[in-house]
Amino acid sequence: MEYTIEQIAALCGGQLVKNRQVTEKVQYLVTDSRRISFPATSLFIALKTSLRDGHQFLADVYQRGVRSFMVQHVPDAAELSDADYIVVPDSLQAMQQLAAKHRQQFTYPVIGITGSNGKTIVKEWLYQLLHDDFNIVRSPRSYNSQIGVPLSVWQMNSQHTLGIFEAGISQPGEMAALESVIGPTIGLLTNIGEAHSEGFASIEEKLLQKLLLFKHAHILFCNTDDERVAKAVANSGLPLFTIGSKEGNALHITGIEQEPVTTVTDNAVTAVKAVAMPFVIRVTAIYKGSNKTITIPFTDTASIQNAIACWAVMLYLEIEDAVIAKRIAALQQVDMRLQMVEALNNCAVINDSYSFDITSFTIAIEFLQQQNQYLKRTVILSDLPAFTAEENYGMVAQILEQKQIDRIITIGSKWQGYARLLAALPARVEQYASTDVFLQQVSVSHFRNEAILLKGARVFAFERIAAMLSQQVHKTVMEINLTALAHNLKQYQQRLQPGTRLMAMVKAFGYGSGSAEVANVLQFHKVDYLAVAYADEAVDLRKAGISLPILVMNVDEAAFDTIVEYNLEPELFSFPILKAFLKFLQQQGLQQYPVHIKLDTGMHRLGFEEPDMPALINILQQQQEVVVTSVFSHLTSSEDPNDDEFTHLQATRFERCCALLKEGLGYSFIRHLSNSAAIFRLPELQYDMVRLGIGLYGVDSANEHQLSLQTVGTLNTTIAQLRKVKAGETVSYNRKGKITRDSLIATLRIGYADGYNRRLGYGRGKVWVKGQLVPVVGTVCMDMMMVDVTDVPGVTENDIVEVFGAHLPVQQVAAWSETIAYEILTSVGQRIKRVYIEE
Ligand SMILES: *Cc1c(COP(=O)(O)O)cnc(C)c1O
Repeated sequence: MEYTIEQIAALCGGQLVKNRQVTEKVQYLVTDSRRISFPATSLFIALKTSLRDGHQFLADVYQRGVRSFMVQHVPDAAELSDADYIVVPDSLQAMQQLAAKHRQQFTYPVIGITGSNGKTIVKEWLYQLLHDDFNIVRSPRSYNSQIGVPLSVWQMNSQHTLGIFEAGISQPGEMAALESVIGPTIGLLTNIGEAHSEGFASIEEKLLQKLLLFKHAHILFCNTDDERVAKAVANSGLPLFTIGSKEGNALHITGIEQEPVTTVTDNAVTAVKAVAMPFVIRVTAIYKGSNKTITIPFTDTASIQNAIACWAVMLYLEIEDAVIAKRIAALQQVDMRLQMVEALNNCAVINDSYSFDITSFTIAIEFLQQQNQYLKRTVILSDLPAFTAEENYGMVAQILEQKQIDRIITIGSKWQGYARLLAALPARVEQYASTDVFLQQVSVSHFRNEAILLKGARVFAFERIAAMLSQQVHKTVMEINLTALAHNLKQYQQRLQPGTRLMAMVKAFGYGSGSAEVANVLQFHKVDYLAVAYADEAVDLRKAGISLPILVMNVDEAAFDTIVEYNLEPELFSFPILKAFLKFLQQQGLQQYPVHIKLDTGMHRLGFEEPDMPALINILQQQQEVVVTSVFSHLTSSEDPNDDEFTHLQATRFERCCALLKEGLGYSFIRHLSNSAAIFRLPELQYDMVRLGIGLYGVDSANEHQLSLQTVGTLNTTIAQLRKVKAGETVSYNRKGKITRDSLIATLRIGYADGYNRRLGYGRGKVWVKGQLVPVVGTVCMDMMMVDVTDVPGVTENDIVEVFGAHLPVQQVAAWSETIAYEILTSVGQRIKRVYIEE
């Protein structure tokens, strides 16, 4: 669908300032200046959020070739004058109105999904279950916000026959807008829970707000086993399709039973799953007076609930029972995450198995593009089964061109037919008829120093290519969720006073999470500074293409050359180091080099003290070699309210020193004192910049619980062997692990050489297996350890075991080891592979 700029202005009630003779029609809406694939046919919408004002990026967006804008005020800059502007009082509202008007042109059914959990899974499952019967347009990934919903609905066109969109709200008043944009004819409420409750007075209020999505729906699917839901929907007057275990529900669930997978002889798909999943769930129900049955290939409560909701929708759509049963038994896990793993020949492989849509593809390509630590970027791409038109392949080719991909490898005969679309690109193009042909002709040596994106439709089985490229050596991996890291960054950014800058601490291999990969995310999200402990760490970042200013905290004379060569900024903390650096710069003939002065206000580690100020000022006044970019100090106990008095004493000393320095130097500099815990707890100490460390990695060191930080690092290992051990026997070295009952013992592929502290032996430490915490038995060995899994039903060899992560917080493991989360995170051994996740 495309609109003229005049039509768009009319649809959203904006005032058009037209400066161009001819303007391309608008096809795409863009709200993020970093996500532009088709500049000529995009409308950039400058949104004002609490974090960012899109108007600041107009010049940047213009430079990339966009000429159509929606703004709240036209920019003054003359160089932006060859563009058309739609001026609106509130650009978010205008975008929503535009999407709502677009939506109204289509009369096919639209399913709107909301609820506290499971929205995305249900949406993706409905897609899996219904895409043979309908041409479906749906929200990409979890696009369910005030911004994400209009962008999703904008994808609707007249070829589609069904829309499936999700809506999420975090405070009262938001749903009305989403209702008008989605206009669901079919409603589905997944459930109601505690998630995202902050903005609501009560669960009941939240429920009422959510139900607003269904105001005009012809039918609402909901589960009445939750009394609160039953009551609210009964009072709502909406037409209902109820699901529940009580008689009287439209879909009356009569039984949910676990059974071994071997009894299901249904089809090959379930047989394959049997390896990983020894059980399935059999659900029986009564619908319109007759008995029905389905088997669900997942055993957790949430999956069962979600699958039953999908079942109800299929029954309502009058899909045959046999077809329903077959499709539900073949449901696939939904994984929208991008995974990046190290591969052979210094390569990285990003695996994107999420189904193809332009938004998701762009996100994956951009993640690839950010991997500056590799020399080249390669995309391996299969045919797009959902698309046949040349137009779709052309669009993909355009994105590949825009994003300057170095090498494109296509797999499949359709791409071979469209070879001309790729011929004009500067990239090297290779084409193969099938995955088999590719694997026969190409070996690992074909790739070197490159980041490789694998984007293959399921039938092309790209996991075979991933296996060929990557080095699966050690089954213990640390997953680093980069989306969670960005989320955590935002949590802190939102709490900064206006104008306060942010320095991100990436010392010690990014607190164990990886330096270049983490720094890429931070650079993308525009932090102001990075800091590392030693110059070598900064060199690695520069080599990986990080251009942000980098503070090096612990410098010595041997590092001066490196500092200057790589454009790094040293912390000067003593007279000897200051004098040595000045002398070095003189010899090099360098002037005005940026440096950072460290003050000791009570930590007594590094830094100048208050009585040093006159002498320090004297030296700085008499030289040209350095400029003081910032002055800073470090708090000893910002996380501890009992020490607040001392913290404020440190702040007072800091302020006095800064005042003296400013007067002596005759110019201002950036002042910074706060680390993670202080940013939130002591906002009055933010000064001009803050230094964010552990909080970025998802650990709330102040234990305030008011920050909703997400887990970044998850350390997973696997079970190497299971054995029965009789009461009276012992486990591990020195016979200290006495077994007091007949037990099932699992040997795990992790030991103290991987950073698992030996102090955690003898039951002090626990790990998380299949939903349960189980204790370590006996001594932790160098490369292995044993845990007691007697009470874990269904445990099998090669099962994944979480050492710390979302289910077992790293703080808990730290407490068991009598240390702090910082030490646990930074101790995770280098031989443990890091896998980077982008959601
Ligand atoms: C490590 C460090 C920080 C970050 O501390 P967190 O508690 O991890 O936020 C800040 N400043 C200095 C000088 C540091 O060494």
